[in-house]
Amino acid sequence: MATQVSNMSASNTDKLTPYSDLAAKPQIKSEVLVRLATFLQTTLDYQKILTLFKQEIAAAVLVDGICFEHKENDIYFSIGHLGTHSCNYQLTAQSEVLGDISFYRSTRFREHELANIEALMGTLVYPLRNAMRYKTALDQAFRDPLTGAGNRIALDDSLKREMELARRHQYELSLLMLDLDHFKAINDGFGHLVGDEVLKAVVGEIKNCIRQTDICFRYGGEEFVVLLNNANIGNARLIAERIRMAVDSLCLQTDNGPLQATISCGLAILQEKDDAHSLMCKADKALYKAKQTGRNKVCVNENKSEAALCE
Ligand code: GH3
Ligand code: MG
Ligand code: MG
Repeated sequence: MATQVSNMSASNTDKLTPYSDLAAKPQIKSEVLVRLATFLQTTLDYQKILTLFKQEIAAAVLVDGICFEHKENDIYFSIGHLGTHSCNYQLTAQSEVLGDISFYRSTRFREHELANIEALMGTLVYPLRNAMRYKTALDQAFRDPLTGAGNRIALDDSLKREMELARRHQYELSLLMLDLDHFKAINDGFGHLVGDEVLKAVVGEIKNCIRQTDICFRYGGEEFVVLLNNANIGNARLIAERIRMAVDSLCLQTDNGPLQATISCGLAILQEKDDAHSLMCKADKALYKAKQTGRNKVCVNENKSEAALCE
């Protein structure tokens, strides 16, 4: 079977297992497994698959909570209560690692229950594999392949969604537009491949400066947009300044000697009359001002007066 046990948690093996239990066989009828497998194939959403799975196995084995994790793909999903006793498995499909799954409850699992879980997990492997492949394809469609930042499609999508959320929950949304300074000269002096490394390093620095809920996009060549949700103008300005300083401190060693870069930033905050286009325009205007007034700086468009645009 494609499912394999990677380890049982210590909490589940802290008592001696009766000998008779070691020969435990699953007590699940084959028609139940077939029905469950068919049911799980009705969606490509891995969270729905796991939620359905937890619901459907309830009649066969009592499980309080399930946790699924795939570190490389940045996936951590849990449902229900994660109790003190657990059993853990690594899910693989023909040597493709799908992730680690743990089952939790407040009392220890007995051997025949583990046998049932293992039998039921066989139905999970292929629906989950298809869902993970679908997720990877979706992620790639929304990601810039060079830097791993979101792409323009993702930006359009996220900006609309974040604006809606900010208005519904009445929190502030700030948008940063960033552009590397004299990047053409970097390419000309060090070559395009080194230029690419700078772009990757800059995205790394941006991600280090923002919270997990903030999102970074590559808007174009050497231009980036960052959406900062729940950040007022003061917080956003601090984050923008942190990014500016982080890029300023970057020093890449190249065959042509050390390379330093700077970045300029325009900042705008969502106001009542804004739509996605006007918010971007405001940030762009502030960025333009930052370029015009010396680069390597942050300018804010508070949409009050032209005088308030830059400090
Ligand atoms: P400014 O400070 O006014 O922004 O000057 P700049 O030189 O950064 O701006 P300009 O628009 O003149 O040049 C942008 C450069 O970015 C030109 C283009 O070749 C380079 N570029 C765009 N995309 C990529 C990429 O994917 N990799 C590399 N290495 N360079 C890129
Ligand atoms: Mg530039
Ligand atoms: Mg540019």
